[in-house]
Amino acid sequence: MAHELIKAYGLLNKMQVFRPKIEQFGVSDLQKFHSEEYIQFLKIVTPDTQDQYKRQMTSFNLGQDSPVFIGLFDYCKIAVTGTLEAATQLNLGKSEIAINWAGGLHHAKSSEASGFCYVNDIVLGILELLKYHDRVLYIDIDIHHGDGVEEAFYTTDRVMTCSFHKYGDGFFPGTGNIKDIGCKKGKGYSVNFPLDDGIDDEAYVTIFKKTIQAIMKYYQPNVIVMQCGADSLSGDRLGCFNLTLKGHGECIKFVKSLNKPLLILGGGGYTIKNVSRCWAYETSLLIDETELPNEIPKHNFYNYYTPTYKLHLKPLDIQNKNDSVVLEKKFEEIYVNLKNLVSPSSNGKRFRPPNLPLKKSEQETNEPLNGKSDLRSNNMESNSQIKPFNEFYGSSNYNQKNKLWLQNSSENVVKKNQLTSSLNNQILNSFNMDNQNNSNNNIYTNNNNRKTELQSNIETDLSQTMKKLRK
Ligand SMILES: [Zn+2]
Repeated sequence: MAHELIKAYGLLNKMQVFRPKIEQFGVSDLQKFHSEEYIQFLKIVTPDTQDQYKRQMTSFNLGQDSPVFIGLFDYCKIAVTGTLEAATQLNLGKSEIAINWAGGLHHAKSSEASGFCYVNDIVLGILELLKYHDRVLYIDIDIHHGDGVEEAFYTTDRVMTCSFHKYGDGFFPGTGNIKDIGCKKGKGYSVNFPLDDGIDDEAYVTIFKKTIQAIMKYYQPNVIVMQCGADSLSGDRLGCFNLTLKGHGECIKFVKSLNKPLLILGGGGYTIKNVSRCWAYETSLLIDETELPNEIPKHNFYNYYTPTYKLHLKPLDIQNKNDSVVLEKKFEEIYVNLKNLVSPSSNGKRFRPPNLPLKKSEQETNEPLNGKSDLRSNNMESNSQIKPFNEFYGSSNYNQKNKLWLQNSSENVVKKNQLTSSLNNQILNSFNMDNQNNSNNNIYTNNNNRKTELQSNIETDLSQTMKKLRK
C-alpha cells in the first residue's frame, strides 16, 4: 500500500528505484548476525510441520507474536535483501539516501524471533556499513524500544543506538530504561528516551531534536540509520502516542538536514492506511518534494483511505502524560552521559572485509528502474500485484473497477504469493486488522549531487504527471 501511494503521488520518478533479487544474498549473509541453527530452522519450518518441532519453536520464540507462515524464509530475505542493497549503495557512494520501507525489523535477536521480527535486517545493514564507516548512529522512532539492535551493539562504541519509545505499564518489549547506556567499550553508546502515553508533535519533536543534536556533537557519526516505525502515530491500533505525520516526518526532515549518508527503514505500524500515509509523506520529504496534495490521489488502494481520503492525520483529543519538566530532566540525564563520552573509535587502517558480491546477472537486475519499475517485467511473482491499473483513472466507473481489482488482487495473493497471504492471514487475524500488502521489496535512493540529464528528463515527466494529478 505504501509503494502504491508513493507511486500514485508521482514520487517514483524523482528517485532511482531498485528491486534487488532475494537470491542475491544467501544464508551465510544472514549468519553474520544470526546463529546457524536458527536460520536453518527458519528455512525448514512450515505451519504443517511446526508441531513436530515444539522444542525449537519454544527455544527460538516462534508462535504467538511471531507465527510461522508459508513463505516465512522468503519474507525474511525480502527485508534483509533490501536493507543490504541499500547499505551497499551508501557504502559505494552511489546514493546519499537509501530507503527500504520493507525493512526495520528491530526486535529480532541472534537466535530468537520477537514481535513479528524474525531476522534483524537493521543489524545486518549496520554490519555492512561498518565496513566503510567508523561510527554508525542508529535512531529508532517506532513506539517500541529498538531492543534487538541495542542488544547487538551494546558493547561497542562503533555503533550508537538511540531509541525513543513508550516505556512502562508492561508495554512491549519492556526494555529501554534511561539507565541502560551500554557496557564495556560500549558504555555510554546506548541512548534510551522512555516516554509515556499521548506525547504530541511539539513535545516529541523538541526532545528528538535536542537529543540528536547532542549526539551529533559528542559522537560525530559518519552515517545514520533510521528506523521509522509508524506505530508511534496517533490512532495506531497498538500504539498510544499522538503524533501526526507532520511531527513524525519532522524528525526525518531534521535527520536529513544533518547531511550524513542516510539509510531509512520502515518498522512497526498497525493501522495500515496510516503507515502508507506516513511513509509516502516521508518519502516526499526525503526527495525534497514540495508539499504533497492533502487529497489522496485515485489509485488501486484508494478505498482503504476511508472516511477522510486525506493524507494528513489530525491528533486525537487525548491527554499528553509526558510532563515537560520530566522530559527536560530525562534529556539532561542523557546529555550528561553524552558529554562524558571518551573519544569514539576511529577505523584508521583497520582491515575492511570485501563488499557483498554481486553477480553479473544480479547487477543487471539491480539497475535503477528510474520510475519505470512497474512497467518492467522480471521474475518476481509479486509484480502481478503492482502492475499499473492507470486505465481506471478518471473513469466514471473508477470505484466499481477499483473494487474489482482489489478482489482480483486478493485472489492473486492466495494463488501466486502464499508468502503475502499467509503473513496477512496469520498476523492480521491476530489483531483483526485491515488487509495489507507486504509484497514489495523496492528500495529507493536519492542522490542530490548526481543530477544527470536523465534525471532532468524524469523531472519534466514528473511535472507533467503532477499537473495531471492536480487536474
Ligand atoms: Zn513497534
